[in-house]
Amino acid sequence: MRIQRWTPALYVGLIAAQTAVALSPSLRQLSWSYAVVLVAIALTVLLCARRIRLAVPHNKPLWSLLLFSLLARGSAMALLLFDSLENAEGTLIMADPTLWFCISSLSLVAAAAYDPATPLLRWTTAIDWLIGGLAAALFYGVTRQPELAREPATLIILFDILDGFVACFAGIRLLGTRRVDERRFYAVLFVITLTDAVAAAAHNRLLFVTDSYLPELLLLLPLACLGVLLARRRPQWLRNIRPTTTLRRLSVSARPMALCLMTCAAAVVLARFKPALGLWSIITTLVLFVGRATIVAWYQLSVEDQLRKLRRSLQHAAAHDPLTRIRNRRGIFQWMEREYRMTRHEDGFCVAMIDVDFFKLYNDRFGHQAGDECLIRVGRALADASATLGRGAVGRIGGEEFLVAIGGIDRSSAFQFLDGIRAAFADGQAIANQGHEPITLSMGVAFAEGQTWPSLEMLLRRADEALYAAKSRGRNRVMVHGLMENDRPFPSSDGDARWLEKG
Ligand code: GH3
Ligand code: MG
Ligand code: MG
Repeated sequence: MRIQRWTPALYVGLIAAQTAVALSPSLRQLSWSYAVVLVAIALTVLLCARRIRLAVPHNKPLWSLLLFSLLARGSAMALLLFDSLENAEGTLIMADPTLWFCISSLSLVAAAAYDPATPLLRWTTAIDWLIGGLAAALFYGVTRQPELAREPATLIILFDILDGFVACFAGIRLLGTRRVDERRFYAVLFVITLTDAVAAAAHNRLLFVTDSYLPELLLLLPLACLGVLLARRRPQWLRNIRPTTTLRRLSVSARPMALCLMTCAAAVVLARFKPALGLWSIITTLVLFVGRATIVAWYQLSVEDQLRKLRRSLQHAAAHDPLTRIRNRRGIFQWMEREYRMTRHEDGFCVAMIDVDFFKLYNDRFGHQAGDECLIRVGRALADASATLGRGAVGRIGGEEFLVAIGGIDRSSAFQFLDGIRAAFADGQAIANQGHEPITLSMGVAFAEGQTWPSLEMLLRRADEALYAAKSRGRNRVMVHGLMENDRPFPSSDGDARWLEKG
């Protein structure tokens, strides 16, 4: 909190000192001016180090790259300061700060290209850094050409392009960053690279029109902005702004392209002076870009494979009962809907609702866990029996309620099959019930046959009515609902004639 309050005051103090230097011709103005900027850089470095300490682990590399950029800029200023001590006119006899300015810009580009998402994508970050490094080296190479030293106006334009590119690159990254803490970093990066680009462009031009040292104030401006932003807590409005999916995709796909184009452009400019080096640089950039595209394609294919597997296991989990491992209500209904549509009308379709008799008593006597094991055995026995049919499926549709659906079966075979299951349970042969008396099943069965089939819902309702009848008539029995011509609900007035009872 205290740092938040004092930081602007410190930068205002430095700006006042810089103004005083500019207005005092008696001083060695150039040296003092560089010294003030160096102090501002040192202060910003301290604030950045504090931010690294406070940052969450995955953001520390980002803030560290910013710190590295500040240190590179500090080195450039220190060289300029030493040079000005030797030579008050600042004609750069000893020092070459351009290299350090290039390194400073390169670290900012590296921060904007940083993407630690997955191990495979770390390689793409490494390639982006290589391309960025090549761009910085080419830029430095261009500025070192003696022909350009005689054209300072062209040099200024080149620096404008470099600074503008770094700001745009940071802006593109900001547009596509989802995580709030990362967005804070890229917001800071964008603001300072933009102010830096504007301030540097104005500074370099003002040097031509005035002998005063007041333009040096512009060098402090981006540092003051950065320092104040570093000292501030996370602004609330950043929380509320979220990039849309389109913006994020644009950001991710535009970044490598922008980096590649920038590097090729620098190589083309260098080719004016050193054609072979320029050509080789373009080829290297394109090879790196293609390598990067290959890694991304590989990554996407592997992600697609993983997603396919995940989708399959999710589909399986959504359609199966975790206890008995047979289909659940959703799974058996899906199977039935498909099979009901596909079965030819002359083949017939059978639905059986099966309920374990007196299961509450079973639970009460032997405990809930034994009840669970019993349900698992019932499910497995029903599944094994259905597997002997070509087109049969079983599902658990409720606590101790199961559903068997059979496609392409006639009425008497289905009845024989289901009643066989019922008898096997009643005899204690179907499941080994660990010394307990056998459990029994009640079944309600409905058929679809002939030319006009009822809807599946109607068929299920009939099976349910038949099950209700099986329960009310004493359990351990199979009740079959006859196909009623006019779909009268059970019990119909002459209903009993339409029910086949066994058990
Ligand atoms: P009925 O013959 O009329 O069907 O009697 P019932 O006791 O089987 O029927 P009721 O509907 O009264 O009780 C069903 C019982 O099934 C109650 C509940 O404890 C038991 N149950 C439901 N789901 C599970 C389960 O997942 N595990 C166990 N152990 N018991 C379950
Ligand atoms: Mg029951
Ligand atoms: Mg029940």
